Amino acid sequence: MTPELSIILPIYNEAESIPHLLNELIPTLTQIGHSFEIICIDDGSRDNSFAELKKLHAQDKRVRVIRFRRNFGQTAAFAAGFHYAQGDVVITMDADLQNDPADIPKLLAKFDEGYDVVSGWRQGRWRESFKSTLTRKIPSASANWLISRMTGVHLHDYGCALKAYHKEVAKNINLYGDLHRFLPAIASYHGVDVAEVPVSYRSRQFGESKYGLGRIIKVILDLITVSFLLNYATRPIQIFGLMGLFSFSVGTIIGVYLSLTKLIYGAALADRPLLSFAMLLVMIGMQLIMMGLLGEMNVRTYHETQNKPIYTVRELLDSNDDSDEANDG
Ligand code: UDP
Ligand code: MG
Repeated sequence: MTPELSIILPIYNEAESIPHLLNELIPTLTQIGHSFEIICIDDGSRDNSFAELKKLHAQDKRVRVIRFRRNFGQTAAFAAGFHYAQGDVVITMDADLQNDPADIPKLLAKFDEGYDVVSGWRQGRWRESFKSTLTRKIPSASANWLISRMTGVHLHDYGCALKAYHKEVAKNINLYGDLHRFLPAIASYHGVDVAEVPVSYRSRQFGESKYGLGRIIKVILDLITVSFLLNYATRPIQIFGLMGLFSFSVGTIIGVYLSLTKLIYGAALADRPLLSFAMLLVMIGMQLIMMGLLGEMNVRTYHETQNKPIYTVRELLDSNDDSDEANDG
């Protein structure tokens, strides 16, 4: 029997939190009244996490455990969770008790309104002090604003792990690197309706955060990747070509100007930095255009070798065809 809900918990050294979390989670899910499975992904923990999970699995078979061979990262844990999930609704959350299981019914209620993705929006995360505003609230708000602007999916809190996905959305997402932070934006590639609900936030009780300040740089680089893929994945020449043409034209104009000064006024060019600059621009321009063309070839290889269409169908009204195949793209 396939469960209706799949809860996905990425776990890296959370031995102390695990029993508390499941003690909260299982009664909450039971109360909701839908059948469920809890997929715990042990992401190469070096503490007692796996032993704890093994115990819990022995007590309750709805707790399924996937143990990675080494630490592959939270994104890989989500990817495995999405792959193994059987439920119609897939819910992700942190395993460190920072998300409150009691918020799950709120997510599901919103989900029932017909959304494909429902994201938590953590409330009360900041102490109301000047320092906290300066060092945490403003950076976080700017990051969320920037990600929203660049990806076109407007959320107040990209960092909240508590989210619910329609099974089809979760199954169709390909994840790489640290891209779990951008899941709603990536899902939007296939066209999804995203909603937000306020959820509570608790500070970490056991263990420590797995990420430091280094994540800021990673997030910026990932943001470039995601916004590029969302906008140009099937037409790379349009961005590379644009930049290339710009650079090439400016270089050419400067080159023509320099040639004229030489031809008309006999000015010496050898010691003019502008000449090198013009040559540089022309060469970079050509390179960018060629990169765009290589990109175009890559797109064709990607889609044609896997028979992947460049679109996704939400519904098909076609009386000659009553199969569900339209959703597989
Ligand atoms: N996590 C994981 N693999 C990793 C890092 C983290 O599975 O390589 C899990 C971790 O156990 C936790 C969740 O991802 O359940 C979020 O991590 P953390 O709480 O450290 O991040 P923060 O809340 O500080 O952003
Ligand atoms: Mg956490």
